[in-house]
Formats: sequence, C-alpha cells, structure tokens
Amino acid sequence: MSFYVTFLGIGAAIPRPRRSHTAQLISVEGRSLLVDCGEGTQTRLMHYAGARLAQIEAIFISHLHGDHFLGLYGLLDSMSMMGRTANLRLFGPPALANMLETHKHFTQSKWDFLLLFEPTDPARAAKIYETPLFVVHSFPLSHGVPCTGFRVEAKPNKFRLKKEALPQDLPIAERIALTLGQDITYKNEHFANAVFAEPPYPHASYSFCSDTAYYEEIVPHIKGVNLLYHEATFLARDLAEGETHGHSSAADAARIATMAHAKQLFIGHLSGRYNDSRAHLEEARAIFPNTISPHEGQTYLYNPKKDEWELQVPNNDSNLII
Ligand SMILES: [Zn+2]
Ligand SMILES: [Zn+2]
Repeated sequence: MSFYVTFLGIGAAIPRPRRSHTAQLISVEGRSLLVDCGEGTQTRLMHYAGARLAQIEAIFISHLHGDHFLGLYGLLDSMSMMGRTANLRLFGPPALANMLETHKHFTQSKWDFLLLFEPTDPARAAKIYETPLFVVHSFPLSHGVPCTGFRVEAKPNKFRLKKEALPQDLPIAERIALTLGQDITYKNEHFANAVFAEPPYPHASYSFCSDTAYYEEIVPHIKGVNLLYHEATFLARDLAEGETHGHSSAADAARIATMAHAKQLFIGHLSGRYNDSRAHLEEARAIFPNTISPHEGQTYLYNPKKDEWELQVPNNDSNLII
C-alpha cells in the first residue's frame, strides 16, 4: 500500500519565500487527504501535486490561526469552479462551521458539492475517520486556542505467504486465512501460520503536531509512529523562561519523539526569524538523531521493507511523482 506525505507548507506565522503556511497532502493508495490549509495551499497543490487538488476526499484543520486555515476559502471556491460535485469531508474546530457560513453569506459563494463538516474535540482524543485503507485519530495539543493533532495510520499489512511451501490447490479462502495470521487445516493437514507465512511488513503511521507547546500528554496518542511531524518554532535558547506562546523548541520536539518511540522526526513551522534550519537540526539531532527538516514541495514515501520514509525525486519541476 503506497503512503506519501507531501509538505506543501512548512513555515510559521509570518511566511517567507519557500516557507509557506502549513499544509500537508497525504496520499494513501491514491486517496488524498489534506492536513491544514494555509494561505495559497491551492496553488502549491497545483504545483507540487498536480491533479490531486480535485481528488481530495477529506480536509483536517488543526486550529483557527490564519497560518493553518486561511487557504480554505479559496480552495473550496476553486473546487466548485473546477466542477467538483463529489462530497468533501471537513474536520476542524467547531467554530470553523460559522466562519465558512459567514464566508458563503457575504461572498455569495455557492458550492456544487456537499461539504460534510464534523467538528473535532480539542478536549479529548477520538477516532474521527476510518476507511478500509486507513484510520485517522485526533488528539488535543496545547496551543492557547482549541487545537488538535492528527494521526493517520494505514491498516496493518497482511502476513506474507510462503507460496512455494503451500499446496498448489490450496483454496483462496484458506490462503486469505493464512494472510490474516490464522492457522488452517486442509485435507486433514495442519498449516501453522508461523511456519507457512512471514510476519507482515510494518505499516505507515504518520502524526501531525502543529502547533503546540511542549506537551507530554500527546505521547500516548503518537506512540510508535514511524513518522512524527512536530513543530519546532524556536531554538531552546530563544524560548523565554516559562513563555512559549504555545510553541515548541527543536529540543522539545526531539524529546517528544524520543518518548513516543517514533522512528523518524520531521520538524517544521520554524519562526521567520531563522534563515535556515541548520541550528534547529543540530539541536534536535543531539537528542533524536533521525531528524529531518523537510523542504517545501518535498514528498516522502514510506518504504515498509526498510521501515523508512524516503524522499521522492520529482520527475519535473511542476509535477512530483505521486
Ligand atoms: Zn502556526
Ligand atoms: Zn497557531
């Protein structure tokens, strides 16, 4: 099962060139999800992810600071003008419903698709969306305004059959049972799963934590993910004593990744005061070595055989391979 994350925006409150407001496109076996939708997300979708704009089936908004949702109005309007008629699911803070209604009222926007809004609960964790391929949970972050993180997790992979060791006439039902981890009996012969199947490859799991102060309560909700995206707005030395403005340092993000036993940590949402991510990476890697600061437009694909997220090389400047 393919599982990609494209970083459409990795900047903080005041954006900079190539560090646009937060947005990430997740693609699971061709199904597209958008997490946050900062200003200009639609044009970056067109640039970095081609036709995916029209195919997004659900949007998840973490909170109602402008750098995380102000691109939503334009994106929804464009989807309608491009002829979208398929339902679109939208998850976000309860007040988002009023904001969108106000937008539609005063702009006289009419959308030809049904927007199915489901409020997130910033006070408790919940499973909010599930398909046969993946499941999405939300969980509270600590940010001064209602704010949730998201965990998007593929369904576990199946056991891998040792086909050469199985009878050629073994029926499909028995084969499926083996892929599900069961022992089977066929023609009075017992086939133990442990003998006739290899364990499943690990499956992709991705957690998004932006924005948040250092908040250990999130650890149970992101436990064991193989990719954790955690904001790292500041360097530790720049965080005033006891004053974080609801944000984290690179060291904070690394400590959370360590406690959660994450496989890889990606940091972003760096304050515009920093020209690059070198100092953040140095600070984070001192605690959690497997840390990356993704660039805008980069796509990472999960490789289950290696249990690693690998950077994909674009086939041209305007359309990444996804
Ligand atoms: Zn932000
Ligand atoms: Zn914020």
